[in-house]
Amino acid sequence: MANQSKAPIYIAVSWILWPALFAVGLTGAGFAFHTGAPLLWFNVVYLAIVAAIAFLERVMPYEQQWLHHDGETLNDIAHTLLNKGGVQIAAAIGASAPMAIATVARPVIISPAHVWPDAWPLGLQVVLGLIIAELGLYVAHRAAHETLSLWRFHALHHSVERLWVVNTGRFHLVDSLVKIALSQLPLYLLGAPLPVFLWIGAVTAFIGLLTHCNIDVRTRPLDLIFSTPRLHRWHHSRVLAEGNTNYGENLVLWDQVFGTYFNPDRRPPADIGISGRIADGFLAQLLQPFSASGFRQILGRKADADHLDPPKLGRQRQD
Ligand SMILES: [Zn+2]
Ligand SMILES: [Zn+2]
Repeated sequence: MANQSKAPIYIAVSWILWPALFAVGLTGAGFAFHTGAPLLWFNVVYLAIVAAIAFLERVMPYEQQWLHHDGETLNDIAHTLLNKGGVQIAAAIGASAPMAIATVARPVIISPAHVWPDAWPLGLQVVLGLIIAELGLYVAHRAAHETLSLWRFHALHHSVERLWVVNTGRFHLVDSLVKIALSQLPLYLLGAPLPVFLWIGAVTAFIGLLTHCNIDVRTRPLDLIFSTPRLHRWHHSRVLAEGNTNYGENLVLWDQVFGTYFNPDRRPPADIGISGRIADGFLAQLLQPFSASGFRQILGRKADADHLDPPKLGRQRQD
């Protein structure tokens, strides 16, 4: 939408919304973490932000055509609940058994010396934790795009043809578990304390909701630091050269370092998706990557097409 056709108040709001929603979410998380039931109150804050984003998507949508139903809403919610359950179980294990993990894994990987900078202010520890976790997220996400054995799980996320707040959590459980393992294990091994994990979880939750939102937000300077909706819309492009970029989940530091940052000065595509086919229904979607025929469907290959060309990964080339 052209800036000049919008009222100044609309443009001002579109600049303010991303940082405002992020700040409100983190402030709410801060209150939640100081109550006697942090997980309960965090989920209340999370759902409030979801509701606010869903409302704003109606009031000031980025793509009108992404407002139309795609028949995947219930599947999106089911995958989200399964993944959030998985994450919260992992967090519970992390909260109750970090010593066990550290005792077993730490001496093998690093010296027994305590290397995590506990004395730093918590905010700085969280930033350090985010940068370390982000490297694991980057490696997992990039590998999911560049190797067929992992793309078979990640394709579910890219099969959406509209971006909105509800498909934020549409990931195959295996895809999520790989990401959790690669991003959180280094922090356990380095001895990061529980508050660092909680705050990383909060940042990831709110940036994730905003990354997928169909609100007409403007984020130009923030695009250099955070994974914003604008950057992630390129990541969902059908065009391989545009889609195999911007792997960052919270920060784009590692995209900048490894040369996969992509933010050209034009509008990201509204026509998104993959050329392969994802099964109908939640259970079928969970099982599809595990069968040979399901794998071929995901890749968009016919039964006799056994020539696998990894860079294609079921998407369309630009040429
Ligand atoms: Zn992806
Ligand atoms: Zn996405």
